Amino acid sequence: MAGIYIHIPFCKQRCTYCNFHFSTSLALKEALLTALHKELESRNQYLLKQSVETIYLGGGTPSLLSADEINRLFDTISNHYTIHALQEVTLEANPDDLTNDYVKSLSSTPVNRLSIGVQSFQDDDLKFMHRAHTASQADYAIKSAQDRGFEKLTIDLIYGSPHLTDADWKQNITRVQQLQIPHFSAYALTVESGTLLHHQIRKEKLPPLDQDKAASQLGILMDTAMDLGYEHYEISNLALPQQYAIHNTNYWMGHHYLGIGPSAHSFDGVSRRWNIANNALYIKQVLTTTPQPYFEEEQLSAQDRLHEYIMTSLRTQWGCDLKKVKENFGQSYTEAILDSATTHLQRKILQINNDILTLTREGKFFADRIASDLFV
Ligand code: SF4
Repeated sequence: MAGIYIHIPFCKQRCTYCNFHFSTSLALKEALLTALHKELESRNQYLLKQSVETIYLGGGTPSLLSADEINRLFDTISNHYTIHALQEVTLEANPDDLTNDYVKSLSSTPVNRLSIGVQSFQDDDLKFMHRAHTASQADYAIKSAQDRGFEKLTIDLIYGSPHLTDADWKQNITRVQQLQIPHFSAYALTVESGTLLHHQIRKEKLPPLDQDKAASQLGILMDTAMDLGYEHYEISNLALPQQYAIHNTNYWMGHHYLGIGPSAHSFDGVSRRWNIANNALYIKQVLTTTPQPYFEEEQLSAQDRLHEYIMTSLRTQWGCDLKKVKENFGQSYTEAILDSATTHLQRKILQINNDILTLTREGKFFADRIASDLFV
């Protein structure tokens, strides 16, 4: 089973914290769509005929595509890939795009899951992030989607921003449950280079982000979400029982995926590929009659793959399975990992059950550091 990711690199405006690849000009949209179709057609051997279980339209802002444009992408996929086992088709959408008419038009596409970029239910927080929507637009978008029968909904939320008090954050999480949303992602605000936020902090127009506040709001997230019945099944993802995101879970489980579009990444089990993050160049190289490279590729050593397994698995509630490590990489690696885990087990930031290492509540505050300590 495999997944397809399609990157739609356009946005209406630039959010202060975002370093994803996108352009605020739609001038190249038509040409970009032509190139996406061509890349889909030309790379249909990448997944070696594995059944496609999930398709994810991410961005950027995929809700800038019309239902017709989405349907045409699916026609190309269904003509060139094995999709009889397709389960989940996600479209990332911004609340200001989810008008009644647009949501209605989406019902005529194979999209069966919406990932809505809410980020906050507080207007001053949204203004700080330079989002294009208001809190009431977020409410309206969610209700429109639900009224049209989109039961599989997820929203994104951000914590740790200067305007978000602990009480606001708790209210945001509670709002997810009040709106009967089965899944949400929660990310700590980070300062990425090249973003407006980075610029403002560098110029001392804003103070640096408060790391203690972010840590305390991660604690509020874990406690509040658990009280409301959500499982914290991955460091940044929470769901009602069994309502996990299939596409992302497959990614954490090491399944293969094909990434289409500028900046998209692909993984086939032994190598990783990433397309150039430049719309004009991507279009030129993909559409040229003489094949031109539009991606870079890295072969993964056994050690690279093991480190990736430790890093991704430890972030999930299913944990790092030492039996799998033994099976795929050898007994010596299992012993080395256990050796490195000893101190963390004693400090109770890691726990082990049936040869599976998982983070404790306390360990979740240091997930990436603990994972890198286990690298062998
Ligand atoms: S956060 Fe989303 S909507 Fe905002 S600039 Fe980034 S990709 Fe675009």
